[in-house]
Amino acid sequence: MKNLINISLKEKIILLRVDLNVPVLDGKIIDKSRIEAIRLTVKKLQEWQNKVFLISHFGRPKGKIKKEYSLKFICPTLKKTLDLDKIFFIENLEEEEIKKISNKMSSSEVCLLENIRFYPEEEKNNLNFAKKISKNFDVFVNEAFSASHRNHASIVGLPKFLPSYAGYNLIEEIKNINIFMNSSKQPNLAIIGGSKISTKINLLYHLIEKCDVISIGGAMANTFLSAMGINVGLSLHEKDLKKTAFSILEKAKKVNCKILLPLDLVCANNLQDKINIKQCNINNIPANQMALDIGGKTIKEISSYITKSKAVLWNGPLGAFEYTPFDKSSIKIAKVIKRISKSGISTIAGGGDTISVIKMAKAQDGFSYISLAGGAFLEWLEGKSSPGVDALKKN
Ligand code: ADP
Ligand code: MG
Repeated sequence: MKNLINISLKEKIILLRVDLNVPVLDGKIIDKSRIEAIRLTVKKLQEWQNKVFLISHFGRPKGKIKKEYSLKFICPTLKKTLDLDKIFFIENLEEEEIKKISNKMSSSEVCLLENIRFYPEEEKNNLNFAKKISKNFDVFVNEAFSASHRNHASIVGLPKFLPSYAGYNLIEEIKNINIFMNSSKQPNLAIIGGSKISTKINLLYHLIEKCDVISIGGAMANTFLSAMGINVGLSLHEKDLKKTAFSILEKAKKVNCKILLPLDLVCANNLQDKINIKQCNINNIPANQMALDIGGKTIKEISSYITKSKAVLWNGPLGAFEYTPFDKSSIKIAKVIKRISKSGISTIAGGGDTISVIKMAKAQDGFSYISLAGGAFLEWLEGKSSPGVDALKKN
């Protein structure tokens, strides 16, 4: 795969695919990690006197121009975080408009293009669309590992028409996830949580073959408990996936992978409930309550496995961490990992919500690597091929 590490691109007009799909709350960007991650690539391209056009998606406007999904709002933050003197912005992808701005720009200047998902052709991977865009540029660089699991025009279409390279962060993501997956450090432990098994079935099947122990928490655990005949009350769980949960447990037995399910849970009437919070064993979940976090005994058990492990992978919060006190176990586990990491074990985490909880616990430096990708991180861990990376390899 051609990449920026072993080549320098000079005085070109570059289309740089980035992921500016940053988390926003009340109009404010709450995490700039994805912008910080593209800094090196942008800086190098500027040093080499290129004109740099950034292209990204933002949210799900579903192929329509929707003001609330415009990327214009991000320009001041990009300017500051990327240390730019100036940033241009183009509201559409019309050839004339791009030419006009491109002629105005001096080498090393940066321009952001409007949300690529305003065009229905993007998600349909329309090749004529990709070809038309490509005509305005000399080179394509993909710096969006977190979007590279998508078969979209700006990911897989553009490399069909332009000389294409991988950016520094894309290479970093792949390198670090591979180092973790290929390391033979044992015993190893995967901690998997989150709300749905349905989004992580393939991951679980894959990890069972690679891991000595898998600890399952979050609402995912409820589906397993329910499959085992435990009454989970009003807890979030996937009734249709009981069979799948069983077959995961069966397969784990066969390949000698120990599955840790919760021993106890923290239950409440709903997510906002602060009054009727109860800690109970898994056999005593109140019929009118929901399990919203794993309990103290379970936290202790997972912590003791972390202490015994040489490698730990984490994806998915273990409780409904957005609502206190159901963030307790996830914060505690992040802190345990941070403490143990000092003894030289390998630790990796990924997933949007997992990163949020690690930050809440101020435990970022407890991880050998934190992937900025969610879906793409999971699919890479599953051993699936990545359409974006494959497109770069074929180029
Ligand atoms: P990631 O983004 O790290 O991959 P997920 O998106 O799979 O993680 O899961 C995070 C979501 O799971 C959060 O919104 C969290 O509130 C929810 N969750 C975790 N445990 C529970 C639970 N017991 N009941 C309801 N929701 C839960
Ligand atoms: Mg999530």
